[in-house]
This record gives sequence, C-alpha cells and structure tokens, in this order.
Amino acid sequence: MKQAIEQYLGSKEIYFYWKGRVALYALLKVMGVQEGDEVILPAFTCVVVPNAIKYLGAKPIYVDIDLNTYNTTAEKVCEKITDKTKVILCQNTFGLSSQVEEIVALARSKNIYTIEDCTHGFGGTYNGKPNGSYCDAAFYSTQWNKPFSTGVGGFLLLNNLDLKESLVTVNQSIEVPKLKERFMLKVLQFVKRHILKPSTYWTMVKLYRWLSKMNLVVGSSQGEEIESVNMPEGYFKGMSSVQFKEGERNLKGLKNQLELRQKNAAVYTDYLKKKGKVFVDEQLNQNHSFLKYPLLVQKRDEFLDLAEGARIEMGEWFNSPIHPVQEKHELWDLDLSQFPNALKASAEMVNLPTDVKDPQVVLNFLDKNIDLVK
Ligand SMILES: *Cc1c(COP(=O)(O)O)cnc(C)c1O
Repeated sequence: MKQAIEQYLGSKEIYFYWKGRVALYALLKVMGVQEGDEVILPAFTCVVVPNAIKYLGAKPIYVDIDLNTYNTTAEKVCEKITDKTKVILCQNTFGLSSQVEEIVALARSKNIYTIEDCTHGFGGTYNGKPNGSYCDAAFYSTQWNKPFSTGVGGFLLLNNLDLKESLVTVNQSIEVPKLKERFMLKVLQFVKRHILKPSTYWTMVKLYRWLSKMNLVVGSSQGEEIESVNMPEGYFKGMSSVQFKEGERNLKGLKNQLELRQKNAAVYTDYLKKKGKVFVDEQLNQNHSFLKYPLLVQKRDEFLDLAEGARIEMGEWFNSPIHPVQEKHELWDLDLSQFPNALKASAEMVNLPTDVKDPQVVLNFLDKNIDLVK
C-alpha cells in the first residue's frame, strides 16, 4: 500500500496514522502550533479538524465558503490573517480544491505554513498534479467513506522537507493501537465485506452509528470528539497492520472507482441542468474527483428520509459548519452568525452517491421528489 501511494503522490515522504485527524494533529505539532496561535480553516468541515487545533491550545479561525466551490477563497482567507496566524488550511471539498496556489503564495509571503485537507481527494488532481501537492503538507483519510478504505485510517504527505526532522521527533511519541482496537476493526472489516448487503445495509449502518456513539466500536468519531474539545485518551496512534492489509486490497479498485464517480457526476450535472436546478459548474469539473455530488434541497430531513425509504445512499456532508455538531458551537470558537454561506450550505445540502453502478435509480428518485430539489 505504501509503495502504491508513494507512486501516486510522487513522493516517499508519506507517514501513516490511525486516522486522518491524527495526521493533521501531527502536522500542526510539527509546524509548532501552540497556545495563543491561530489556525485558519474553512467554516464547512468536519469537527475533528478544529478539534486537532484545539487539542494544541490554538484557536481555530474560520473563513466562510464560496457557494460555487464550497471552499474558501484567497481573498476571504487574507482578511483573517493576523500576526498570530501560524497555519492556513485549504480543503479539497468533495474532491475539489480551489485557489490553492493563490492561498499558498499569500501564506508564503507572510511566513505562514499551509496544509491541504485532502481527506476527500486521494486519487484526484489539481491543476495537473495530485491533490495535496501544493501546500507545505497534506493529509488524507482512509476511513470507510473516503476514496479508499483501511476501515479507519489516514496518512500525511510532507512537501516541505525542512519540517522532516521535526516530524520524526513528533512521531516518536506515537502509540501502537491496542489489541482490542485492532480486533474490533477486523470485525468491522469482516462485517463490511461479507454481511453488508443491500438488503441489510440500512440496519447495519444504524447499528454501527449507535454502537460508535456508545463508544462500543471503533467509530469514525467518538462521543467525546463531538461533544467536547478534550483530546481522547490514546488519540495519537499509528496505523496497524490490519489497516494496511485492508488498504492494499481496496486501493486496487481506486482508478476504476474514480472514473465511475466522474461519469456519474456528469450524468447528475446533465440532469440537474435540464431541470433548472443547482448543479456543479462545469468549469470546476476538470479537477473534481467527486467523492460526493453536492445537491441543495428543501426540507433536508424529509428528503433524507425519503431517500432512505427508496434505499438511496444519500450522504449528509456537511450538516453543520463543523459536521456533525449541532449545538454548543462556541466550544469550537465558532460564531455561526458570521458564516452565512456555510450555514446555508449545511442547512440545505445532501450528497448524491457517485459510486453507484446505475445512476438512473438516483435520477428516478430525484424525478419523484423534484419539488424538494433547489
Ligand atoms: C473525514 C474528514 C476528516 C477526518 O478524517 P478521519 O480519517 O476520519 O480522521 C477531516 N476533514 C474532512 C473534511 C473530512 O471529511
């Protein structure tokens, strides 16, 4: 798996972790982020991103998103830079990066580090180079829902080699996943491979979500990660052999998967355009690997229930500017009123599945519920 990733990213500076968020934490630490520092990030992300910042005592500084790309712009990022800014995070949202070169140039001129959140984007490219090539470093996720899966997992790519020595030092304190955690992951992988059939999918998903909320399985986010900004015990862990094995298997299908995603996305764009609905601008498609296809709807919860009834695996990224947090945003230093675009997107967005064999099933569902589509 390591070799294939190295080859894809054209670098040997790849380091593996228990989850993508842990890779981000390592990078922030390597860049010297500490109490009193500020880290700029998009206000349309997963809560584990500001968590990693908070765990180091630094302050997340959010930037509203642009509603075409669901990413930040260099202009909006620039407004938030202060003399405390240590790092700027760019995000490859749903497989799309935007204005990364501009943001990197801006950051360099002010001696600020940059990290690209490529958790959605492994396999895709940005302006002719693999996603993650432009910033000082990038991190990737190999969780169930990400481009290829190791169960849970993640890795980082270091582009700025001046940081290597510091990374080696930081990695010395990495813990080995516990036997119990490795075993649970193995069970989940087995379930996913052998028991998760279309007929049992929804029951299993609900069970998995409930179990992970109760901290009974290795879920993608533990209860305390979405309820507090305290670092969970044993957070800073490496990747285990269970994960490498699973990744080895799943990485083989990545290229075909990517083609399928882009093909389906084109079908969705065509359809939404014909119906006069909001679609992903074709000008943005060249670099878009479409892990998910963003769709804006009215009555989001009702729409999701209808999708579930029709057995369509509709995504719900991001249902909050710091997904999936729905309350106490102030814990993460987030004042919702400052981010109208992110609020609109998170209130109205669902994601069409792009890895389906037959997109017509999805189109039929949309046809039936077209009144709810924006
Ligand atoms: C999934 C995700 C992460 C975290 O990845 P993990 O491997 O689950 O830690 C970070 N940022 C974004 C935008 C994500 O969607």
